[in-house]
Amino acid sequence: MREILEKVKNGVLDVVFPTMCMGCGKEGHYICMRCEGFVGEVALICPVCGQSSLTGQQHQACRSLYGLDGLASCFEYEGVVKNLLHHIKYNGMTHAVKETTARVLGIMLEDTARFYPFLSFLSSQNIHITYVPMYKKKERDRGFNQAEMFAKEIAKSMGKEVFTMLEKIKDTKPQVALKKEERLQNVKDAFAVSRVSPHSAVGADSTLPEKVILVDDVWTTGATMKECCRVLKKAGAKEVWGFTLARTS
Ligand SMILES: [Zn+2]
Ligand SMILES: [Zn+2]
Repeated sequence: MREILEKVKNGVLDVVFPTMCMGCGKEGHYICMRCEGFVGEVALICPVCGQSSLTGQQHQACRSLYGLDGLASCFEYEGVVKNLLHHIKYNGMTHAVKETTARVLGIMLEDTARFYPFLSFLSSQNIHITYVPMYKKKERDRGFNQAEMFAKEIAKSMGKEVFTMLEKIKDTKPQVALKKEERLQNVKDAFAVSRVSPHSAVGADSTLPEKVILVDDVWTTGATMKECCRVLKKAGAKEVWGFTLARTS
């Protein structure tokens, strides 16, 4: 919050309070009706091999000990959506998180055939929702972790809580500047099960809940989420689905 106020004060952030379309500037919504026509939805993929999977479930043949069991993504990461997520992350436009999350969940609920495996996983009783953590110093500088904010909105709409399960223990380079192979290497051993948290899901015996949804804003190569999933599963999680608002295609 302090960070946001500072940005406002410095004039870096001049679009804080009026809700306006990130495509055309029209007031009212972050994506107006007209610009919504240009928003692409992505097909679902198997999070292990990256190939098409009708419902986002991991292929049988891709089954592995520590791999993600499924991936639910909604928008194509380009145009107005890319703009919107960029503003949320780098310009502190966090008040757009609620509307954006609601829109994504709305789209998923309208397409229950495609999203059924994810939605039934999300609504099962013993599900725990968590998020990709940031390196503490980076989070302090930014003032928030957008992945955690999206996770909180999803949890709230399901009448659930968000749990901190992971922490980032290595200050990695930004993934965006790296090639695919470098990205995997960059995030390797960058995460650990969170030791101290006021609402940590880790019990006294350090075992994690069995069913976990891991939230992030964007899926690009999936290197970060795959590494987080590996850590979660090594620590006792049995089934992990990834959830991102957008995906590059
Ligand atoms: Zn617009
Ligand atoms: Zn696969």
